[in-house]
Amino acid sequence: MGKPKTLLFVGAHPDDETFGIGGTLAQYATAGVKVFYACATRGEAGTVEHQDMDGYASIGDMRWAELQCAAQVLGLAGVIHIGYRDSGMAGSENNQHPEALAMAPIDEVAGRIVEIIRELKPDVVITHDAGGGYGHPDHIAIHNATVKAFYSAGDSKQYPEASPVFQPHKLYFGVRPHGFMKLMVRLMPLFGHNPRRFGRNKDIDLTRIVDVDYPVHAVIRLSKHSIEIRDKAAACHTSQGGGRIRPGPFRILRIVERLQGQRDCFMRAYPSPTSHREKDLFEGISQ
Ligand SMILES: [Zn+2]
Repeated sequence: MGKPKTLLFVGAHPDDETFGIGGTLAQYATAGVKVFYACATRGEAGTVEHQDMDGYASIGDMRWAELQCAAQVLGLAGVIHIGYRDSGMAGSENNQHPEALAMAPIDEVAGRIVEIIRELKPDVVITHDAGGGYGHPDHIAIHNATVKAFYSAGDSKQYPEASPVFQPHKLYFGVRPHGFMKLMVRLMPLFGHNPRRFGRNKDIDLTRIVDVDYPVHAVIRLSKHSIEIRDKAAACHTSQGGGRIRPGPFRILRIVERLQGQRDCFMRAYPSPTSHREKDLFEGISQ
């Protein structure tokens, strides 16, 4: 028996592990894979309601507690804080905070991720797509740093001060299928919503996302059980609207999700993809 299969998701905020690819993480954890979440920030720049802050000294404390709750529901083996501060959306004041992820040099962020990779020894690493899903500067920063870290972790000349080298087998980016976003952007105006002003803070321009068409190299079909777990984990993120009756646009998102089937899509960055579409992120890895 070799070491257990291990998967590492590197993301930006508490809730990216659930709202993005929570179903996939839950499905692998249920199958006995050790699933870790390395989260760059504590979500300090999130918008929250006053009543959700009860008992917490800061937004970061509250959102980290929500993440612990979600991690337990998803069955994660561990959550690691990479050590930065939420930069907020592009152009916000939080971008300039000295501890903001957006202010950190990519080599430094990558170095911290290298350390985590060398310690946890994941077979598979997943992160945000190059456009950061919807253009969030933290998602983009984490994408860039994780790509650098992935290729550096197995090279003893890179970051020699971190623990012994380890090279993961595969690197994926979580992506939304193109048709999905297109349909969403088409449906929203029919329900009286503006696709350029999506999200809790109305700062997400969905039409920008539609312009980018990432290739899909792996599709994970989610079991009913995994979807239930993901939805339960979403309820942990109360401050971010998880588990509440969602306003209009989120209901459209649910309808579109149902039309598209419940699945998570991934673009494979390494090894170079072929025309074969994978159904398992661990395909081809012998333990
Ligand atoms: Zn995020």
